[in-house]
Amino acid sequence: MHMKKGILYFLLLLLILFIPTKTVDLIINKENNNEQKEEIEWIENPSEDNTVVSETPKVTLPTNISTSSGSNWWEYPKEIYTTKRDGNDLLVLVNKQYKLPSTYAPSDLVKARKSGIRRGERYYLRNILIPDLSRMVTDSKAEGIDLSIVSAYRSYQTQVNTYNYWLSKNNNNVALVDTFSARPGHSQHQLGTAIDFSSNEIGDRLGDEFTNTKASKWLSSNAYKYGFVLSFPKGYESITGYKFESWHYRYIGVEYAQEVVNSGQILELYLQGYNP
Ligand SMILES: [Zn+2]
Repeated sequence: MHMKKGILYFLLLLLILFIPTKTVDLIINKENNNEQKEEIEWIENPSEDNTVVSETPKVTLPTNISTSSGSNWWEYPKEIYTTKRDGNDLLVLVNKQYKLPSTYAPSDLVKARKSGIRRGERYYLRNILIPDLSRMVTDSKAEGIDLSIVSAYRSYQTQVNTYNYWLSKNNNNVALVDTFSARPGHSQHQLGTAIDFSSNEIGDRLGDEFTNTKASKWLSSNAYKYGFVLSFPKGYESITGYKFESWHYRYIGVEYAQEVVNSGQILELYLQGYNP
């Protein structure tokens, strides 16, 4: 009788010791799985901003950041105006001074898949650039370059989320975020003609590591032949208002892109000439 009772207590002890631990483990695992799933969904859902950035862009700001407007290259001017040209116009100037109406969206959006791009096929782009992008994808592939798209069209509302996301990631440091993320209405991505490229060389990630890839070098010497121009070149931060982005190209059509190259100007200054 005593023996039986002993075994019973022993079993009870085992039950108390191990079952709860296992239950807690299960709960923790379940939570981890959910978190992972959410992250994957966030990355893969094309309706959300799915910018996969390997790291927060590194920017050197002075320690005492001035609050007065217009004195530092990343700051927005005091006066903000609506763009002079319509959003559908390939030559519309969108920058820190000129913003698109919140209601503007391109009328001819199609999936990037139409261009034959390997990855990023679910992003939206304007149909007008698909033939040239297709040519670019085919020609680059023939030269051993494997391009992918990591961001393309972003609606005004998506840009609200994108900008706020970066603020939350950077302790609400507005000055820092303004160096690399556009406020809603000020983003070229709302045009449906801006593309953030990456390649298989860096696992299709978006960010500074793209700069030294073969794909980046290929784009910088060939993209204009397909109507694409680098928007924020190195050394022109004070003119564009953004840090160097080796991955961000904007489509303006083959003839105009050739004109930009011939003029020796950067896109920002070239477009200023068309938006007096
Ligand atoms: Zn971009």
